[in-house]
Amino acid sequence: MPSLQLICLDADDTLWHNMRHFEATEAALADLLAPFAEHRVARATLAEVETRNLALYGYGAKSFTLSMIETALELCGDALTAAELRAILEAGRALLAHPVELFDGIAETIEALAEIAPLVLVTKGDLLHQESKLAASGLGAHFTGVEIVSEKDAGVFTRLFAKYGVAPEAALMAGDSMRSDVLPALAAGAWGIYVPHSIVWSHERAPAPSDHPRFAQLDRLGDLPGWIASQGLDQPRPATV
Ligand SMILES: [Mg+2]
Repeated sequence: MPSLQLICLDADDTLWHNMRHFEATEAALADLLAPFAEHRVARATLAEVETRNLALYGYGAKSFTLSMIETALELCGDALTAAELRAILEAGRALLAHPVELFDGIAETIEALAEIAPLVLVTKGDLLHQESKLAASGLGAHFTGVEIVSEKDAGVFTRLFAKYGVAPEAALMAGDSMRSDVLPALAAGAWGIYVPHSIVWSHERAPAPSDHPRFAQLDRLGDLPGWIASQGLDQPRPATV
């Protein structure tokens, strides 16, 4: 049995584009609110409202839409018109309907990883939206499991490894968020692989661990199969005496 027995992968901005759609929607909101507030102020207010609402609404496009409405009300007050409200709802709906665009080479990477160990998708966000994105991605058949969770913390990863019957040191989590993908997986005793994306939501920023034996940073997910091989993690576990 190889040393690595479970590979967990993040979805948004690890397998497919996501932040660029949120960015475009945020820019559209700032344009809409331009008569009432500078772009900078609109964006800062939205970030504040979103953070405030996370504990109530969780992650994803629907809670983002509610936060956009709240931001508009905060900046426009009773001057917010039905037409503007309608435009915000439409922007939110477009965010839910955007096509899934895989990163280059992802289908081949997923196939290669599935040959090494069972794959589990671990993602936050709306249940329905995340499920439909996975279905649209065409990657679903390669995954042994899909875990859509409200938060990614060490406890969630510990329970997840137990559910799949693997020791934490035989599991790996790769994703674009230091805060949600890498640090909690390391804290749970697994390998944590950081694959940064060019756009990072401020909420997901965190300093990299210094000199952690189970941490690595890769330029792209396509480098993961080679990295696993370079660590010998695809080889049988050495016999213990
Ligand atoms: Mg992500």
